[in-house]
Amino acid sequence: MVDKVALIYTEEYQKYNFGKDHPLRPLRLELTYSLMEKLKLLEHERLTIIKPRIATQQEIETIHSPQYVEVVKKLSENPKDKTVTPYRYNLGPGDNPIFKGMYEASAIICGASIITAEKVWKDDEYKIAFNPAGGLHHAIRDKASGFCIFNDIGVAIKYLKKLKKDIRIAYLDIDCHHGDGVQWLFYDDPNVLTVSYHQDGRYLFPSTGFINETGEGEGKGFSINFPLIPGTNNKNFINLFRKTAPKILEVYAPDILITQLGVDTYFNDPQTQMGFSLSVYRDIAQTMKTCAREYCQNKWVALGGGGYLLTAVPRAWTLFLARMLDVELENKLPDSWIKEVKEKVPYEDTPYVLWDRGEIVEVEWLSHPEVAKKIIDYTKSLIDLSNEKYIPNLVKS
Ligand SMILES: [Zn+2]
Repeated sequence: MVDKVALIYTEEYQKYNFGKDHPLRPLRLELTYSLMEKLKLLEHERLTIIKPRIATQQEIETIHSPQYVEVVKKLSENPKDKTVTPYRYNLGPGDNPIFKGMYEASAIICGASIITAEKVWKDDEYKIAFNPAGGLHHAIRDKASGFCIFNDIGVAIKYLKKLKKDIRIAYLDIDCHHGDGVQWLFYDDPNVLTVSYHQDGRYLFPSTGFINETGEGEGKGFSINFPLIPGTNNKNFINLFRKTAPKILEVYAPDILITQLGVDTYFNDPQTQMGFSLSVYRDIAQTMKTCAREYCQNKWVALGGGGYLLTAVPRAWTLFLARMLDVELENKLPDSWIKEVKEKVPYEDTPYVLWDRGEIVEVEWLSHPEVAKKIIDYTKSLIDLSNEKYIPNLVKS
């Protein structure tokens, strides 16, 4: 039996589109698929491309209130529907604009994450499945938030819980923004451990994800947050990540791992202020893969997430897929993809390598000895905190 990898993909993802002036552009998924294809990952013998199905209303309502789902449905049919009050649900001008077909576009992403989870959980041939359109981690029960209409992650978790009532799920979120929606949805649930690494909420939306958010009731101790100083670079992050994530997963010993792979931690991302270069995602992917194999029953459900630089996101997620398939790629880009990017994203600098290394983000203020020391000391304190506070909480369970 080979370890197969499923990529859940459809052109229908393009329909999740808030308009041309919105930062979340579906073109990033098209460019991701194109790069994976041009690098011949899609023809790899261990890879299967699977088309998602649309989630049923009932499946969506395992997470969202029927009232909210109904509002999304109505506005999806008629964005000018006067019988509803969209702003109460955080829909409208701003982060979550209303668009025709938004219900179906969101439901297919939920369906895709269900299939992603189902492949890994039910089909022994598949150890890893990846839905790059998923990871809409901000939406909550009756509100859209941060470009997320429905929380596909929550829907997939509920789906898994239906298959096995007492399943233990570890959710690991590396998006630059705190994984607040998933955290709050399962805040009192000890069977869903949420771990989020993100830019400190004092400096970035959604202003949560502090170290004192550790869960409530029976879920106390099962929410873990690592807020990071803006400008944290590859070296500091990977040191923190490798010294915390594997230990947490080893102690929790879940039945399955779900990761949210937002890549808006990239140093040039227009929405955030972190200091990662692309090479860090290869290292993160390797650590996740090892963790899934060693501590999570060799089951890894990978979902996408944020990332707003259209030339960076495809490269980051291609690095993730390559690691999932154990393919060593050369550090160059196909000419045909460079040409495509020049045509479709003429306003961004054209990239010529698959990954850039940490040196590029050694900008002056970050390499100032005092700042550098502050970040090193701070990440070390997070490692200590994890050992002293988070791990014992998990052991007690
Ligand atoms: Zn984000």
